Amino acid sequence: MNFSVVIDPGHGGVDSGAIGNDIVEKDMTLAISKIMYDEFKRMGIPVYMTREEDITLSPKDRVTKAMNFFGKDKNVILISNHINAGGGEGAEVIYSLRNDSKLSNEILDNLSSSGAKIRKSYQKSLSTNPNKDYYFILRDTNPLESIIVEYGFLDNTNDAIRLKNNYQDYALDVVEAVLDYKGIQVGDEYVVKSGDTLYGIAKKYNTNVKTLMDINGLTSTNLKVNQVLKISGDFYTVKPGDTLYGIAKKFNTSVNKIKDMNNLSSDLLTVGQKLKIPNQVIHKVKVGDTLYSIAKTYNVSVDDIKKTNKLTSNLISVNQELLIPFK
Ligand SMILES: [Zn+2]
Repeated sequence: MNFSVVIDPGHGGVDSGAIGNDIVEKDMTLAISKIMYDEFKRMGIPVYMTREEDITLSPKDRVTKAMNFFGKDKNVILISNHINAGGGEGAEVIYSLRNDSKLSNEILDNLSSSGAKIRKSYQKSLSTNPNKDYYFILRDTNPLESIIVEYGFLDNTNDAIRLKNNYQDYALDVVEAVLDYKGIQVGDEYVVKSGDTLYGIAKKYNTNVKTLMDINGLTSTNLKVNQVLKISGDFYTVKPGDTLYGIAKKFNTSVNKIKDMNNLSSDLLTVGQKLKIPNQVIHKVKVGDTLYSIAKTYNVSVDDIKKTNKLTSNLISVNQELLIPFK
């Protein structure tokens, strides 16, 4: 990897951050950060957190940790997670004076597709010195590529509801934006490069050779350069109230099959846990998608998608999760 990531869960310990509408900033920033951490790990991206539990960090502690773990390098992306308060609505990203807005805007785009209301990305300098960032976590972490992500205003009723419902998706949105920004391919397709093996690709996407062969209809493990492979790199993220039985039913599969694929020894699930689902992928509907375009993308029929998802019309809505059946 040509980059690494430091995640900074804002506040902590005696510093709770903002509180309102049953949200405590320090707790939500930690929850979001942990999801990000796990996802970067899963993708093989070097990642570090400035705190992993509810502890107090001084600004100096935070900066020292962020600057020392991977070194003072502009290829270290520092993401400081915060929840806003003070009378506003929507997500915003603040980026340092030494960087441009590209990553920040990708993050906002992704958050928007998960239902967040968007304010803006911006830079802010000290009133006493226009060449210095206003926020210490940006100012004192040169040359890192440092950003502050504010996911919404916890004192705004609409934002608070969205934060509580969507914070897990928001965390994954930021990871996806970073991967896109750094050109890491995580989409539903992979173009075979010289030297690739099915085993290597399966490993990279946390799947297995058999699954790749099944969903691509391959009869041998030989690959051709520029061959396009479908990747079932999508996972189901366990939500509160989920059971293995319910998930198996939802995906037209069996509890045992899910347990096998995920090496589960018990039926216990934890919220946020990611499960591989057999031979199917989940497509999250994006703006502009139609059943026809989705069917074409995955080389299946519109009818198959409708049947699998028990759709009675061709109407789909943004963020709806569709199960894509592979033969
Ligand atoms: Zn904060």
